[in-house]
Amino acid sequence: GERTLVNVPEAIETVLALIQHKLGDRIAVRCTFAGRPEIHCTPALLNQVVMNILGNAADAMPETGTITILTASTDEADEIRISDSGPGIPEALREKIFEPFFTTKPVGAGTGLGLAIAYSVVQAHSGSLTVEGAPGGGACFIIGIPRQAR
Ligand code: ADP
Ligand code: MG
Repeated sequence: GERTLVNVPEAIETVLALIQHKLGDRIAVRCTFAGRPEIHCTPALLNQVVMNILGNAADAMPETGTITILTASTDEADEIRISDSGPGIPEALREKIFEPFFTTKPVGAGTGLGLAIAYSVVQAHSGSLTVEGAPGGGACFIIGIPRQAR
């Protein structure tokens, strides 16, 4: 697809509207947008990455929870950080989750492809997709798109 300058807050609003049915009233979403608000990328692909990560966050919090979305920029990259208040990801699994078909969900519930697709999309933009622990024990996914890819 064609790369353009994508307004990140607008892209996130679009994706939140698309998965509102999965979040319902049970999951609160907090957004803090700082840094450069635009990323040079293919809009539909960025939406897919954010959608896959938010869908997983919703799956990880079957009752109530909070998703926190932060944007930030360094000299090197523009970042989107998506954290949740779910159970988190054991360190031993943090590399495996990006492999195609890796899932811990019941048969039929997950394809294990969401993060593999997200990873390859970010790679195609010369970026990085990593996971760490969020404060409070949840998962925090970090999308980084380098400035030299602009
Ligand atoms: P799927 O959602 O179909 O299982 P994904 O590639 O999207 O496949 O995710 C792979 C696995 O990574 C999930 O099955 C789950 O074990 C783990 N995972 C992803 N996101 C989270 C999260 N926010 N909290 C806990 N585990 C997660
Ligand atoms: Mg998934």
